[in-house]
Amino acid sequence: MKVAVVGLGIAGLSICARLSLAGHEVMGFDQFEPMHTEGSSHGDTRIMRLTPGEGETYVRLARRSADMWRAWEGLAGRALIDWTGGLMAGPHGSPFVDACVRLSKRPAAAIRGDAIHPLTRGYIALPYDWDAFRQEDCGVIAADATRQFLLRQVPRFGAKLFHGRKVEAPITSTTLTIDGATRSFDAVIVAAGGWATKLLPEFAGRLVTKRRVVGWFRTEAPRALPVLCIDNDAGVFGMPTPRGLYKLGLHSIGETTDPDNVREADDEDAAALSKYVAQILPKHDPNPVRLSRCLYTVTPDENFLITPSAANDRVLLFSACSGHGFKYAPVFGELAEEWLKGEPSRELEAFGLAKRGGMNRLGAAKS
Ligand SMILES: Cc1cc2nc3c(=O)[nH]c(=O)nc-3n(C[C@H](O)[C@H](O)[C@H](O)COP(=O)(O)OP(=O)(O)OC[C@H]3O[C@@H](n4cnc5c(N)ncnc54)[C@H](O)[C@@H]3O)c2cc1C
Repeated sequence: MKVAVVGLGIAGLSICARLSLAGHEVMGFDQFEPMHTEGSSHGDTRIMRLTPGEGETYVRLARRSADMWRAWEGLAGRALIDWTGGLMAGPHGSPFVDACVRLSKRPAAAIRGDAIHPLTRGYIALPYDWDAFRQEDCGVIAADATRQFLLRQVPRFGAKLFHGRKVEAPITSTTLTIDGATRSFDAVIVAAGGWATKLLPEFAGRLVTKRRVVGWFRTEAPRALPVLCIDNDAGVFGMPTPRGLYKLGLHSIGETTDPDNVREADDEDAAALSKYVAQILPKHDPNPVRLSRCLYTVTPDENFLITPSAANDRVLLFSACSGHGFKYAPVFGELAEEWLKGEPSRELEAFGLAKRGGMNRLGAAKS
């Protein structure tokens, strides 16, 4: 089949990789340059969790991605994931921590908040009466390195990638207009991140683009620290990064934004992050070394939305974000191939509109 992929973030690149390997004639288009920092996929790192507390569907998806992450590492000739371990924590009775314990089937790894301080030699501090769960199958993805690897590898699989080429909105059929010229395809996959509703306005009520800011924080004596996912109002998440800085973000804090007009990171963002660094990372300087802004594309229930357009069933919306999509990237190509074949797996079905009711409403998913 002749397939167009609109958007070459981590989702679009993964889809181009798989479909070209499967023998389809694939063309990928992105409005920006290869390693741009305007969307959702840029930055040095992302959190990987093989047993995400978001539910069985995501555990199955993560497990499906594990082998392919290894295959990508083989092709890349380097590790793309640093398995640091992680701490999932929250107030006593946190449904997220409970889900992590239940889904991991490792109740013994559940600990109390006051055990964290000695466990991390005072680098991480949590309220003594909180619940926490030590998760070994957690780590840090080298996000930009993964994008660079795919940008090199995907053309070798036979796909044609076009950067600096904006697909005209809206998309109403499998004929696209790019720079005023039209091109026809057998199928179109819209993996346009925060711009999805500009291209497919029918989903405006189901997807919202949100601004998020992350910061990198220094400490005098860096040491190996785990990934952190905290079930509190802000949805604090953190991960160790290369050069010994610790990166912190707030999953649930940030305004709705137009992806074409996003406010730059500023002192207000720094202050919001510093407050949590002072509480949770007592040995880190609460003043960020640097900040970066990024986009979430969020559904009301924070589950992924992968479903055909009502206007044309050969046009697929592929929105796997809500701030927790990167870790599943290698599977995205498989899900797209299932759609092309008309053979959806349980996972793909779960992300469609038809089965929406069956999915848990994710109480504040984590990164
Ligand atoms: C701050 C932050 C922290 C995160 N942390 C984690 C984490 O720890 N773990 C995790 O698993 N996930 C995490 N995520 C989520 C993850 O990064 C995203 O789910 C993922 O990057 C989404 O990728 P995407 O390809 O769908 O979107 P994008 O990377 O935004 O790609 C969409 C692309 O479409 C292009 N495009 C849009 N419109 C057009 C058009 N008209 N024509 C051509 N091209 C177009 C854009 O230029 C863009 O390149 C985080 C996200 C953020 C923002």
